[in-house]
Amino acid sequence: MSIKLRLLLFFAIVICAGGLTTYFLVERTTESQFRTFVFSGDAEKAKVYAGILAEYYTEHSSWEGLQSFLSEMPAYVFTKLDEKIKGEQSFSPAAAYTYSTISALLSDRIAVADAEGQIVADTSGKLLGTTHPAMHLALGVPIMANFTRIGTVLVGSMVDSTFTGSNERFLAQLLRSLSIAILVSACIAILFGLAFSIQITRPLAALDSAAKKIAGGDFSVMVPIVGKDEVASLSASCNLMTGELKRLDDAKRRIIADSAHELRTPVTLIRGTLEGVMDGVFPLDMGTIKSVHEETLRLSRLIDMLRELELIDSGELKLSLEEVDVVASLEKAAALFGAAAGEKDITIDVRRLDPTGVMARVDVLRFDEVLYNLIGNAIKYCPSGGRVACAARREGSSVLVSVDDSGPGIPGTERDRVFERFYRMDKSRAQDSGGRGLGLSIAYEIVKAHGGDIHIEDSPLGGASFVVALPVVATN
Ligand code: ADP
Repeated sequence: MSIKLRLLLFFAIVICAGGLTTYFLVERTTESQFRTFVFSGDAEKAKVYAGILAEYYTEHSSWEGLQSFLSEMPAYVFTKLDEKIKGEQSFSPAAAYTYSTISALLSDRIAVADAEGQIVADTSGKLLGTTHPAMHLALGVPIMANFTRIGTVLVGSMVDSTFTGSNERFLAQLLRSLSIAILVSACIAILFGLAFSIQITRPLAALDSAAKKIAGGDFSVMVPIVGKDEVASLSASCNLMTGELKRLDDAKRRIIADSAHELRTPVTLIRGTLEGVMDGVFPLDMGTIKSVHEETLRLSRLIDMLRELELIDSGELKLSLEEVDVVASLEKAAALFGAAAGEKDITIDVRRLDPTGVMARVDVLRFDEVLYNLIGNAIKYCPSGGRVACAARREGSSVLVSVDDSGPGIPGTERDRVFERFYRMDKSRAQDSGGRGLGLSIAYEIVKAHGGDIHIEDSPLGGASFVVALPVVATN
């Protein structure tokens, strides 16, 4: 069952349960309260009648003729009322109230019992002559004359517990209005519930269709973010995920395309040379074998780099960290590149600024790889007779390792781009020197994996200065 239907069903059940409970409770309390109200009204009226009836008894010295007096009582009461109103200067609100009260009195059923409990008058005639049970008489109002109880008067609900026609109609009308009010509120609540469930489920439907498109490989899809609730936050996360997937997908495509392109060059060279040998164009001598061997070395180096990037991307690059003196690492790397530097008459020096060494926690193999790449590049891009200077120092919470050269340098606009995969500033020159544009991107990932950072500055030697910042090792 869909969420929308479930929500609607839930609303309907809650609203129906609420409506029925309200109806049941209100119906019960209304009826009992109304009964009390009617009874108290009747008791008030009975007090008025008790006064009139006491006068009647005093006048006649018995209850004789009361039955016919009761039928004349409206006229009697009206005469009294008229006298009272005429006696007033103006028709006061109090008089109006009395008038309306007495008008209401006239429609009531009145029964009068004598001192023994026998009914001597009943406007309905039903109980006339019967003896009224003492229990019911207790509900009535005593009629007193000369401090003696001469009878009891019972009005409306005191005689008959069933409501009179007008009371019944009033109660029925009240309950009908209540039912209509509950029904209308239930309909409004269900409509609001419907609007609410649509409001909740619409973004979910958009998310669903977006997820299906993403599963189909369409990463351009964006879910609209409406409001600031949990669904909006989910939509924002979905968009973030899609953006990341798109970025990874683009990177993957670019790497595949670039890898294919980079692999094609040495393979074409090897194939061309071998076909030339087979066709007798090239002699099968040591020189040809050496050039094929060089290309295979280049190929396997490229494959190693791609494998390393793949490890980094999949998060499988495991670092075994140990505390090392990075100045010693620089000295080792500089010694390794001594011959290559000598070939180009480049001087390479490592400055030991702190005689105690500069300690950092690194994966030695990976960190060496970074240094080899930076020093190798410095020598590669430096003209003959140039200079390469390496140094390490502690600055604040970082260990800064720098490799400077007196080469052509890297312009500000290119400084971020050289860390991108397969990016080469001067493609022909880099390719001549065997560059594939992968070394710096690998160095960048390795430094990041160490929790560090790498950036390029202008070197005082005139060329580029690559600065690696690593978190410092805490000393006790
Ligand atoms: P490559 O194998 O091409 O050297 P890298 O990723 O190591 O690949 O370097 C990317 C590009 O950055 C190089 O092609 C080169 O243009 C530029 N570069 C790197 N190091 C230096 C440097 N020390 N001086 C000038 N340019 C450099």
